Amino acid sequence: MYSEKLAKAINEQINKEFYSSYLYLAMAAHFDANALPGFARWMKIQAEEEWEHGMKFYEFLNEVGSEVTLEAIACPPKKFGTPKEIFEQVYEHEQMVTKSIENLYALAKQENDPKTELMLHWFINEQIEEEKNDRDILDQLAMAGNNSFGILFLDKHVLGERKGD
Ligand code: MG
Repeated sequence: MYSEKLAKAINEQINKEFYSSYLYLAMAAHFDANALPGFARWMKIQAEEEWEHGMKFYEFLNEVGSEVTLEAIACPPKKFGTPKEIFEQVYEHEQMVTKSIENLYALAKQENDPKTELMLHWFINEQIEEEKNDRDILDQLAMAGNNSFGILFLDKHVLGERKGD
């Protein structure tokens, strides 16, 4: 019988991943509406990735014989600031997700459940990568500063070049 505490926490994590997907899609819509299609592309790919993260947890619960229960996904913000402010928001959000995954890991240890620990290893590595990507983009946005050419360069040749899976 799979731990009820872990099942509850993983169901909450599924909701967080789906919210992340929704948040990044809202950011994509903002960039699309503001003539930055490269930034929008980056966000759309990110939104797809977050959906896949939610599904990884979903499949795991199914594999261990526990039930997935879906709750409402919160409404993302409707107004956004500058690209720099948006990426600060993304970085902060991902740090919160990292914390949430680390809490899940601590709970798996507490519940003495190695299979959940093992499954979480993938997510722990993924969060290292997510945070690094966000820091790199923030550094590049700092280099561009208020220079429109810099922002347009990042849009076309950096974020717009992101490869989907
Ligand atoms: Mg995620």
